[in-house]
Amino acid sequence: MAGKKGKDKVKRCPLCGGEMREGITTIPFLIGEKVTVIKDVPAEICSDCGEAYMKSSVVDKVESLLDRLEELHSEMSVVHYEAA
Ligand SMILES: [Zn+2]
Repeated sequence: MAGKKGKDKVKRCPLCGGEMREGITTIPFLIGEKVTVIKDVPAEICSDCGEAYMKSSVVDKVESLLDRLEELHSEMSVVHYEAA
């Protein structure tokens, strides 16, 4: 790999090359037969195609949230990320 040195300030979407911006998104998860929707998730969102990417710290929190919801035996849950 002959990459450039230093970090680009602008992150680019791996799908379309669009500019990634910090934002808030709503992400639906389908686990088995359960649907969980997590709202207000901080993410980087592509300004062109709308693809959202979560940071690893956010992914960790989302996963622990999903683990806890698993115990509720609810077929459909809508939760706010910040309530986690
Ligand atoms: Zn994109």
